[in-house]
Amino acid sequence: MEKYEQPQGMTAILKEMIDNDPYNKFCVDCTTNQSTHACIFYGTFVCDNCARAHIQQLGMTKSYVKPVLSDLWDDYQMKCVTLGGNKAFWDFISQYKIERDPIGKKYRTKATKYYKRRLSALVQEQEFVEIQPVRNTEELVDRGLEKSKVVLDKAETKIVGFGKYLDKKISNLF
Ligand SMILES: [Zn+2]
Repeated sequence: MEKYEQPQGMTAILKEMIDNDPYNKFCVDCTTNQSTHACIFYGTFVCDNCARAHIQQLGMTKSYVKPVLSDLWDDYQMKCVTLGGNKAFWDFISQYKIERDPIGKKYRTKATKYYKRRLSALVQEQEFVEIQPVRNTEELVDRGLEKSKVVLDKAETKIVGFGKYLDKKISNLF
């Protein structure tokens, strides 16, 4: 069987992605070592050490990790890192102040799981309507208040409706 080789053009694009982009160049997890691997589900680049940590602590089903330059890439995977990238991921998780958390913790949060689903929808060009997880207690309280307001508004509508119904019933009596 003929050995399938990575088209040179694709390798060049990937190399460019980790060499010339200041964010992709360094591991998004430890921010110290140079990137050698990609985390497909998050569209990010990580170093050897962190790639190993992903595999050991999360497993390939939770975090699909592959070497950047010594592996075959398909269109889907290319799209993940092109539409994703380290900066987008870093900016997103910084809102939750989890960017420096250990791998085993960071990737088990609602925020990273949401990011993964959002990127996957983007790559597959699917509509994504999920509401972003709350970033802080203030936002949590705001959403709680909003929810109670909806409940109260609904209750009010019901009460007004019931009032009208009673009025009608009563006027029918006379
Ligand atoms: Zn690292």
